[in-house]
Amino acid sequence: MRRLLLCLLVAVALLAAAPKKPKLVVAIVLDQYRYDYTTRQRADYSGGLERLLSRGAVFADARYIHYPTVTAVGHSTVLSGALPAVSGIVGNEWFDPEAKASVTSVSDPATQLLGASGTGASPRRLLVDDIGDELKFAGGSPRVFSISLKDRAAILPGGHLADGAFWFDATAGAFVSSTYYFPELPAWVREFNATRPADGYAGKTWVGHTLPKEGRALYSAVDASPFANDMVERLAEQAFVAEKLGQRGDTDLLFISFSAHDYVGHTYGPLAPEERETSIVTDKVLDRLFQLIDKTIGMDNVVVALTADHGVAPVPPTSGDKVMPGGRIAPDGPSKAVAAALTLKYGEGAWVVKASDLQLYLNRDLAAQRGINAEEMRAEAARAVKALPHVARVYTRDDLLKNQVIQDEVTRRVMNGYNERRGADLSLILDPYWMLGTSGTTHGSPFSYDNHVPLIIMGTGIRPGIYFEPVVINDLAPTLAAILSVETPSGSVGRVLSEIFAPETK
Ligand SMILES: [Zn+2]
Repeated sequence: MRRLLLCLLVAVALLAAAPKKPKLVVAIVLDQYRYDYTTRQRADYSGGLERLLSRGAVFADARYIHYPTVTAVGHSTVLSGALPAVSGIVGNEWFDPEAKASVTSVSDPATQLLGASGTGASPRRLLVDDIGDELKFAGGSPRVFSISLKDRAAILPGGHLADGAFWFDATAGAFVSSTYYFPELPAWVREFNATRPADGYAGKTWVGHTLPKEGRALYSAVDASPFANDMVERLAEQAFVAEKLGQRGDTDLLFISFSAHDYVGHTYGPLAPEERETSIVTDKVLDRLFQLIDKTIGMDNVVVALTADHGVAPVPPTSGDKVMPGGRIAPDGPSKAVAAALTLKYGEGAWVVKASDLQLYLNRDLAAQRGINAEEMRAEAARAVKALPHVARVYTRDDLLKNQVIQDEVTRRVMNGYNERRGADLSLILDPYWMLGTSGTTHGSPFSYDNHVPLIIMGTGIRPGIYFEPVVINDLAPTLAAILSVETPSGSVGRVLSEIFAPETK
């Protein structure tokens, strides 16, 4: 009896409890930061990344389970836990059959840019909500801010009720936002812009590259250098200080997406010294941010989550023996093949209305006008692209909606990414390591190098260590919901990663 009682007591004591509610959640995405940058480059880190890797719960097998693995889709997943089939964010861009036009994941003609001229952007195309929204629903007056170099990377994780999302405009050389959030930029953003934050990088060098002296050329070059992460971190510091994040009694959320790895990686590839240098700078700027937060509210009052929005393929081989498979095909190759086949069969016409990477949208209106059965048109188009070298799979809209598909992991990811109203007529999968392009490298495939990313959660009550069990990035949102004691976001399909919660100690 005594033994039984003891066992019960031990079991109760070991029951995992969600960590105490933090004052601040800092959620970080490193755009195109592959998982192996945490292992291959580990010896290079001594700052913020080192802190996360040594003190956080590090998931060694965290993946995205959708296709395509691109920026908007990854960023729409991180704090919603949703799949694109439900969130509606099916790509960076898609063809909107109602507007009869190509749209981006965040384009919104009902808004204006603030801080530059032009049409603004908003999270209106995101059909689900995010952790920040749930934090707001839970009461009090939590503040939610989201910052990135890219509009989609700031807007989609911020959710619908964010107090502000900010991104860099390379024409204005300044951080901008949209009238969706407020009628004018907050004073602290205007003050930051008045310092001309990108101009200070003029003439700076990194890995043998020298930044231009001024203007648009400089701003674009900053975007594609590690200095971009330095600049974004500086704005995040301003947000933290000016908005008194974590200092007002409610739990606040600061989301930051660092884009430099993506721009650098597309050009130089994951194995280049440029990529390594970008990681080293990122390690330093994260350290700077953590030190400021520590000094102000104490890092033990903060939960930090870090992941990436997708990985990247190695740069394809050019020649020589004993090389890895892979290569490039012309970006317009698939759409040209489809256009030629449909013209041959049905006559002249603008048959392809949009090619968003490997997702092709066909002219359904033209087919209807000419009395062509859309399903037959898609089957004809699929035959044409299937004949191209290195096209491994072609899924038509009909295949996916009727579930007439090979049942495997690749298909599951394509299905997870397919939204009936926004999905393409044809979705192509190339052989592993093959890509559309003329130089550099890219991502978007359902394969490991594009879907395997770091997932690290660090905070009081979270057990540090390496966790090898497979998890999905969709698990982050429900895990944060558990830590924050708020409802799980609407589209979430993940689970609470309760294995990281330290056993309750009494
Ligand atoms: Zn990206």
